[in-house]
Amino acid sequence: MDDIAASAQPLNAGSGDGLVRRISLLGATGSIGRNTLDLIERHPEAYEVVAVTARTNVEELAATALRTRAEVAVIVDETRYDELKQRLAGSSVEALCGVDGLVEAAGRPADLVVAAIIGFAGLKPTLAAVDQGATIALANKECLVAAGSLFTDRAETAGARLLPVDSEHNAVFQAIADNDEASIAEILLTASGGPFRTFTYDDMKSVTPAQALKHPNWSMGAKITIDSATLMNKGLEVIEAAHLFPVGADKLGAIVHPQSIVHGLVRYIDGSVLAQLGPHDMRGPLSYCLNWPRRAPTPCERLDLATLGSLTFEPVDVERFPAFGLALAAMAAGPGMPIVLNAANEIAVEAFLEGRSGFTEIARLVERTMNRAEAGGMVETPADIADVFAMDEWARSQARALVNEF
Ligand code: NAD
Ligand code: MG
Repeated sequence: MDDIAASAQPLNAGSGDGLVRRISLLGATGSIGRNTLDLIERHPEAYEVVAVTARTNVEELAATALRTRAEVAVIVDETRYDELKQRLAGSSVEALCGVDGLVEAAGRPADLVVAAIIGFAGLKPTLAAVDQGATIALANKECLVAAGSLFTDRAETAGARLLPVDSEHNAVFQAIADNDEASIAEILLTASGGPFRTFTYDDMKSVTPAQALKHPNWSMGAKITIDSATLMNKGLEVIEAAHLFPVGADKLGAIVHPQSIVHGLVRYIDGSVLAQLGPHDMRGPLSYCLNWPRRAPTPCERLDLATLGSLTFEPVDVERFPAFGLALAAMAAGPGMPIVLNAANEIAVEAFLEGRSGFTEIARLVERTMNRAEAGGMVETPADIADVFAMDEWARSQARALVNEF
């Protein structure tokens, strides 16, 4: 589709075209960051690493920066800045710290920026990457959930192309290819259903963080793993899809597919459904973004359908997984409510992971924060990014207060 495909320079760095791409990794020490490094370090001749960043893991950050000969390494936690400088001493890698350092590094000229910070914290640096007109391999769905069209408009103004890393959106992007937006009847994202797919709602009241962190198929960071268990992740992804593929909310949906082999499907007006299948390995979608619009070999396992035997599908049960319904309601309420939804969810997930609240309280806390926002007339369309930050901050403070009431 026009907004994300078509005229950009090919990025096919791993495909042996002899060109060198400047690449930055925001969130280099996370699950997506490490998977990206695994791919690019197989082609050191094809990449020049500009920036690598991390929140607290200074040891891994410094090792990554030295190994990849990055231009700059940023540690967000300023108390670890001295350690970063010590670890990089004698090398050519520059050390920066704090959110200012992160934003500065994200704005350094690069061909491709992998936006793989978790949560709303990724918005500011990703905007800096957008503003310099880089192609963005966008893993941080919270940017689109919270800032929505303010984010996509800014990308368009700067000439920054957004390539979706999220496996479902990457699948849809591939399944749309050159098809006309008007010929799309429906876009469906698949959901594994998470570790509690077969649990009753009452069963879920007593599950522990350790149980929720055991995703049946994917290995990911903690926050998105909990979001996958509540199905909030799928709700956030429907909102993400609404911004990446603006076909109208009534044409977007999700379906549970426990094997996580079909990642996304597009039904066309003639009844044809095009789907993308692949092993559940994020190096697949990441490689597609790194090499787009071409393809390159990956170390992913070959998909063996005969051994798998069957692929099954079932509807999303919003009674047992109310977080999904809340996300759809937030999307329907207009651009302000997804900011509240996302902020409250981040607070609720943190409280659950820290043992301060229960699993089913995650959705309850999000719902109560959304109700407060509505009752307080807080859900206006944000006029600019400053409004997005203000609404996020307001929702966080409300959600923090509500956690203590549970
Ligand atoms: P993660 O928790 O494994 O890693 C997060 C990275 O961000 C780390 O490098 C960390 O140091 C950094 N970070 C954390 N908090 C930060 C802050 N406040 N400021 C700056 N940096 C910070 O997360 P992940 O699972 O790799 O997910 C990253 C993003 O990709 C998320 O938005 C997630 O929704 C999305 N995503 C991930 C997967 C996956 O397989 N992990 C799949 C689809 C989408
Ligand atoms: Mg996904």
